This record gives sequence, structure tokens and C-alpha cells, in this order.
Amino acid sequence: MKKLFLIAMTAALFASCGKKQETTNLYTPDPEGFDYVVDAFADMQIMRYRVTGIETLSLKQQELLYYLSEAALCGRDIIWDQNGKDHIQIRRVLEAVYTSDVDKTTDDFKAFEIYLKRAWVSNGIHHHYSGAKFVPEFSQPWFEEAFGALAPEVLPLKEGQSAAELLAMMNGYLFDPTVAPLHKNQAAGVDLLATSSSNYYQGVSQKEAEDFYNAMKDPQDPEPIMFGMNSKLVKGEDGALYEDTYKIGGLYSDAMEKIVYWLEKALTVTETPEQHAALEKMIEFYRSGDLKDFDEYAKLWVKDTESLIDYVCCYTESYGDPLGYKASWEALINFKSLEATERTKKISDNAQWFEDNSPIDKEFKKEECKGVTAKVIVAAMCGGDCYPTPPLGINLPNSNWIRAVHGSKSVTIDNISEGRAASTKGSGFTEEFTWGPEEVELLNKYKLMTDNLHTDLHECLGHGSGKLAPGVDPDALGAYGAVIEETRADLFGLYYVADQKMVDLGILPNMDAYKAQYYAYIQNGLMTQTTRIKLGDNIEQTHMRNRQLISKWVIEKGNGVVELKQRDGKYFVVVNDYEALRGLFGDLLREIQRIKSTGDFEAAKAMVETYAITIDPELHAQILERYEALNLYPYNGFVNPVYTASFDENGKFTGLSIDYTEGYAEQHLRYSRDYSFLK
Ligand code: ZN
Repeated sequence: MKKLFLIAMTAALFASCGKKQETTNLYTPDPEGFDYVVDAFADMQIMRYRVTGIETLSLKQQELLYYLSEAALCGRDIIWDQNGKDHIQIRRVLEAVYTSDVDKTTDDFKAFEIYLKRAWVSNGIHHHYSGAKFVPEFSQPWFEEAFGALAPEVLPLKEGQSAAELLAMMNGYLFDPTVAPLHKNQAAGVDLLATSSSNYYQGVSQKEAEDFYNAMKDPQDPEPIMFGMNSKLVKGEDGALYEDTYKIGGLYSDAMEKIVYWLEKALTVTETPEQHAALEKMIEFYRSGDLKDFDEYAKLWVKDTESLIDYVCCYTESYGDPLGYKASWEALINFKSLEATERTKKISDNAQWFEDNSPIDKEFKKEECKGVTAKVIVAAMCGGDCYPTPPLGINLPNSNWIRAVHGSKSVTIDNISEGRAASTKGSGFTEEFTWGPEEVELLNKYKLMTDNLHTDLHECLGHGSGKLAPGVDPDALGAYGAVIEETRADLFGLYYVADQKMVDLGILPNMDAYKAQYYAYIQNGLMTQTTRIKLGDNIEQTHMRNRQLISKWVIEKGNGVVELKQRDGKYFVVVNDYEALRGLFGDLLREIQRIKSTGDFEAAKAMVETYAITIDPELHAQILERYEALNLYPYNGFVNPVYTASFDENGKFTGLSIDYTEGYAEQHLRYSRDYSFLK
């Protein structure tokens, strides 16, 4: 079927212009033969993601995807500038040194290369996760010499700036620990703006900024705009504050003109009227900078549910601003995964069957149960703040009232998870923490598949199942409510992933696959998830708490069904009876549903306090030590694929080809050359 489609398309191509053209090589390579790993340095491993199913897109959809992808790349400089006021210039100097004829065999150069690769990951000179400034492992004299050898025409000087001044600035950022030490300070008690190096405020104190925005807010307004989201707040010469707005004709205009150029092309090939309307509104927002237009766009965007192709391509998340007002520019161009969405549809269509057959008490079952179809997407291009470290899912818009009144989109990104999963393969991680070869084989075969299914069951059915007893306050469980709710949804998924129904529906291949999920769930809940927690700390994160709750409870109540066993002094999870383990998950689900339905605060408290929060220190220390010894890369970044569009002599789009072979440094240097529009 796939082949036929390609041949048909190529034939049409021949017919339309009468001469031989390059054929498209639009295909999704088999995961087995796909080389996921691109590069590795410091604490990062750089992967590539497969654009699964791109060959199923129509020619028009490919064209749309192409234009949106180009728009996604045009905003790269914006995020660099948002992350630091001199960041674009710093990047240009580093890249000039990197591509100069400096001796590339020295230790200094090798350390410099790692520094630059890390800066590319962060879109700046601070660690993308911790926010601390990178410490160079090359020497200052080496850098000064390499800088001094640069040809004058490659120096990215600002107006009126001398080479000596530029070098002094670079030395400050690179070698002086007191210059811009933190990307975003979150420690209370100091001025957060003065101690953060992100570039959302200029000459403004935290108090002044807070007063400025508090004065704008009207607590009575049911539809408040996202104040300050698309501007830099600046103190003028006269001491008054004003917003330098991101818009065409305003701040970042040169980059946004390019973005809009491509978005307008995209507008000519939209799939549905809803998609057209939303995109048109976003373009209007780029021009006006009016946050009311942004809200209008968000409202239209959530209504656009039928299109296959979707996008985020604007100022979006405010994590980079210590005060949470300013949004960083990001882009994620994607399309719906039909295969995965079919999977969630099968589950949702059977929602009532799952509810009727669930192990919870009859009085707490829903008489009428509707599942939701989770949208699973395939990332096709990441840009701005989503590049090169894209999220695993998105849940937008951020405006609370739009979410409440008009809805939101919540999606998981299948191919990014796939890429991340591939990064621990072959690293010895599975072998280190798994009891024996039988379990390792099980995990290698079925873990990713059943992880996805478990997430689907959790999202599509788990949260929507069951009901409260009459008169019970939905907030009765207080601070324990969130963990209990996640526990419930996870247990619903665990119970049903092992049901014959999954095989009958054609979702799982056999009745062994679920065992991978059972083993991996407890292995993670009890052991491997704690690698992200410092020794001595408690578990804070809700999902981590609920996973440990479930894992500890089944071990304690299971009478040997599942146990934590030692071999050569090392701890392992051993599941002795998978069917009985399913029974235990069912028992716990019944109890958790009872707690939820009846609002039993004391029982919720006891459950969470006993099982979810504290980690056995001896076990924790051992897990951390074993993890450390594996020398894994804790963080992943990704390179984008390279798309090449073909057009006939009349400028008509004739096809898209995809290439996965571009390297990490190669990609960044190309982006800096072809997609850098800001001064
Ligand atoms: Zn959940």
C-alpha cells in the first residue's frame, strides 16, 4: 500500500511536467534499522526522531508541513535573545572560532567544542535544566589567542564596538563566575530579576515589574489577557516603564517577518476552514502584538480538531521568566498519528465494557461511561524553545479561562518518546536493574508498546471511570487528592493492560506482552525512578508518589507474588506470579476507588503517608550508585530531519523528501547560516 502510494505520486509528477524529476524518498525507516544516536557529550546524548507515517500525508499536507517547518526554524534567534541579551553575539563568536582554522587536535579545542555543543543545547550559556552557567574547560589564554586569530570580517561586532570590547565581553561571560551566573533565579529573598540573566526585563526591579503588572490586572475580568506575555519590560531614560512589544515593526521584527512569510504560504494550503481561521488569526497577532488577538487565536486553535497537521509556532511558555509573565518563542510542527489514534479510539469505543467489568464496587461504577480519544502526534519539526530538547507532550493553551470555556488540546508525542527510549537501549541500564535474561527479553520486546498502551488507558479511561457517592465533596481528600487520583488512573491501566480484551481488540499481540508493563512498572516505581532524587530527599512529584505507592503496596500485601530480592548484594524486583499480581492491582483499585468515592480523608492520608513519600535509604543509596556506574547521559536532545521541497517550473509544489543524516554540529551551523535574522 505504501509503495503504491509513492509510485502513484511519482507518476503524477512525471505526467505534470513531462520531464524526469528527482523522485521523492519520503519514507519512515523501520525502527530496527534506524540509527537513533547522533552525538554524545557532557551529560547529553543527541538523538534523531523518526517521522513515523509521513509517507501517508497527501501532497497538499506535505506542502503545509513544509511551510510550517520553515516558519519553525525562523524563530531560532528569538529564543537565543530571550535567554540572554548578548546570547546571539556570543553564539556567533563561538561559531566563528569553531569554524576557523584553529588547531582542532588540542585538548583546549576539544573542550571548547563540548562547550559550544552544550550552548547549542541550551540556546544559551546556561544549562537547559539546572540553569547554572557552563564552566569552560578550555583556558582563557587559548580562547584569547583563537579569538585574536579571527579575520576581522568574521567578528560579529555591534555598532561602535571594538574587537577588544567584544573580547572583554566574551571573557566575562565565559570565565568570570560572577557574570550572569544563573539563567533564572528562583530563590526567595533576593531580587529575582537582578539575579537572573534571561532577557525579559531591562533596568527593572522585581518590585517595579510586579507593581506594573498588578496595576493592569482587573480581578473582576472573567476573560483576562496574558499580561506582559509578548514583550520586554524596559525602564526608559525618564525612569518610566514601558513594554517593548514583540511584533512586526517592534522587537524581533526581522525574525517574525520571516516566520509570517512562511505562515502566509501555509495559509494557502490549509486543510480545513477551522485551521485556516486559527492560522490567519495567529498571523494577525504577529502583526498587531495585541494579546486579545492571541486569545482569539487560541480559541480558534482549540476548535481546529479535524486537521491532521497541527502546530505550535508562537510565544507560548513562561518557564524562562522568573516572574512567569513573559513567554518564550517555541515551535512544534506535527501531525496526528493515525495508527496510535486508532488504538485510543478502540479503547474509548469500549469504555462502557471496561467500566462494567472493572473490579471496583458496583455502587461506584458509572452507569454511562464515555471514553476520550487521546490525540497522539508525530513531531515533524521542532524550533525555538522546543529545539533541541522537545517536550514529550503538550497541553495548551495556557490561559485558564480559555481552557475552561473553550477547551484545550492535550497530546502526547509518540516519536519523541520513541527516540528517548532508544537512548537507554544498549546502555546496560535494563540489564543492571532487571532480574534475569527472561525479563530483559520481555522488556526489550514489549515495554515501549505497553507503556504507550498504559498511558492511553490511564488518560482515555482511568481518569473518567468511577463516580462519587451522593453528597461527597470532590475536594474531600485535600492535599492527598491528586496522588489518589493518579493512583486510580494508573491502576485502571495496569488492571486492563493484562486483560484478554486487549488481545481480542488487536491492540496487544499476545498474553505475554502485559508482563513487560507489570515488571517495568514496579521496577520503576520502587527503584529506577529514584535515580532522579537526591539521597535523603523524599518523593515530591505526584506521579512518582503514586508509582511508589502502588509498587510498595503490592509487595507488602502480596505474600511473595512480587518481591524485592537480593543477588550478590544487589536488589532486584522479581515477579513470581503475574496473574496474581493483576489480582492485587484489582484489589488496590477497588480500595482506592472506595477512598475516592466516599471521600475517606483518613484512609487517603494513611495510604499516601505509608507508601508514597519516603524512600528506603539503603535501597536508594544502592540504586544511585549502580546508576552512576553506568555512566549514562541523563539528558537527551534531538536533531531535526531535513526536508527538501520540490517545485515545478510554475512554482507548483511537487513533493517533499526527508533526510535523517545531518549531524548535530552541522545542523546548528546550517541554522546559524540560513535562519539567523536578528542583530
Ligand atoms: Zn493522570
